[in-house]
Amino acid sequence: MTRISRRSLLISGGATALNLSFPKVSSANLRTVLNDASQLNPTPVAKHWVAKTQEAAFIEQLRSELKEAAAARRPIALGAARHSMGGQSLIRNGTVITLAPAPATPDKHKGTYRASAGTRWSNVIASLDPIGFSPAVMQSNTDFGVASTFSVNAHGWPVPYGPMGTTVRSLRIMLGDGTILTCSQEENKELFAHAMGGYGLFGVILDLEVDMVPNRLLKPSFDIVPSTDLAQRFMAAIQGSEKAVMAYGRVSVARSRFLEEALIIAFHEQPEPRQGLPEAGTGGIMADLARAIYRAQVGWETGKHARWFAETVAAPAISKGMFTRNSLLNEPVSNLAGKSKRHTDILHEYFLPPERLNDFIQACQEVIPRSKQELLNITFRYVGEDRMSVLAYAPTHRIAAVMSFSQELSLGVEADMIQLTEELIDRVLAVGGSFYLPYRLHARRDQVEKAYPRLQSFVAKKRHYDPGILFRNLMWDAYCA
Ligand SMILES: Cc1cc2nc3c(=O)[nH]c(=O)nc-3n(C[C@H](O)[C@H](O)[C@H](O)COP(=O)(O)OP(=O)(O)OC[C@H]3O[C@@H](n4cnc5c(N)ncnc54)[C@H](O)[C@@H]3O)c2cc1C
Repeated sequence: MTRISRRSLLISGGATALNLSFPKVSSANLRTVLNDASQLNPTPVAKHWVAKTQEAAFIEQLRSELKEAAAARRPIALGAARHSMGGQSLIRNGTVITLAPAPATPDKHKGTYRASAGTRWSNVIASLDPIGFSPAVMQSNTDFGVASTFSVNAHGWPVPYGPMGTTVRSLRIMLGDGTILTCSQEENKELFAHAMGGYGLFGVILDLEVDMVPNRLLKPSFDIVPSTDLAQRFMAAIQGSEKAVMAYGRVSVARSRFLEEALIIAFHEQPEPRQGLPEAGTGGIMADLARAIYRAQVGWETGKHARWFAETVAAPAISKGMFTRNSLLNEPVSNLAGKSKRHTDILHEYFLPPERLNDFIQACQEVIPRSKQELLNITFRYVGEDRMSVLAYAPTHRIAAVMSFSQELSLGVEADMIQLTEELIDRVLAVGGSFYLPYRLHARRDQVEKAYPRLQSFVAKKRHYDPGILFRNLMWDAYCA
């Protein structure tokens, strides 16, 4: 999360000369401006509260914040790490609550752990790894919150799981009027299904009880195939007789062989060594090297070839051969993040029926090179069917295509990104797929309605559970209000 003041915006925006012609403003009058991981959503807020979610006083403090905001007719937006990219965790002139990290508490007997409103995946791994357990499903990085992951219903890459919400046994949520309800697939089922992927619009999730699984030793296999065979070979790797338990695919992104070659990395369980499993690290010097190679792709075609060589030839040759499940999951975002002030990394994500993945890759080969955007990576993952959440992006099983673009920070390039996104969404919808909501709000409303056919009922239930529309964010304003 980036916190900048109005003063620093003015100075960095080259408006210093203009600034001289106005009377000096006392810093007490400057509003707090928050942003999210896109760097494209500077949002002035009336109040920013960083909530210490593990403290006993949290619940009462939260209740009084909700009351104060409602009395002042100020909307509330919730956030944890603010890695959503379209203001899903922000609201202009509202009360913005950041749920601070907090430890997780495992229960070996039940096979679950309890996460509080702000618990991050790094907190979860830190408490599960020493006792030989691992989160069943989480995203590719550990910076994110557990409750926020449920609130976007994120997916991971362990197989054969569906989105993270399918691994939540129960949760407690505080509604706008301060009432606390317990929700699960059996109790307050309707609210559970709306809060899952509900983008913080129904209330504040106070804590969750989530499935954990044994940590395991895993060995990777590397398979290089033409991209036209990717879907079939990927599904065979995870469904065949020697089922992989974690898997992902990649494609070459250099312009001369754009999306022509694919790599499938599938991890298989190995017997536990007598000395037990090693502790989960976070990458160390290898992570620095991987980051340098990954970032060298920006603006440099040779860098893209070098990165493909590193992944398809060098990594399989020098791989130390074994990883624990937790060590694969224990990746901070910083392992691949850029530091440029002129560019930002923007994600897109599309979900395809496996049999239509080839059509989508072909669409990308046509559409992306015409744009001004630089594609750094596509990762393919399996997402199992989600029959629970109202805004389900995987109503039947899907292959997810997670794309990362390096986008220049300029208005012209942002306009180009809007066009590219609309075009890709049209193509994905045409083959029965869908797209993910926590990124930029570039989809047209008709596209959102087509990808999420229950959107209108989602909006109606939001108005039912939160009649004063206390919980709002920029996504609600764009697609639902
Ligand atoms: C580098 C990167 C990698 C990613 N990898 C993946 C991936 O592998 N798989 C995937 O599915 N997604 C992925 N994402 C998307 C990511 O899962 C979402 O952006 C997610 O929201 C990030 O968590 P956060 O803590 O940053 O959430 P935030 O952006 O802070 O919040 C997300 C939403 O949750 C709501 N919320 C937060 N806390 C609460 C609470 N206690 N109660 C109710 N609502 C709450 C917020 O209001 C907001 O609408 C990735 C994003 C990035 C930038």
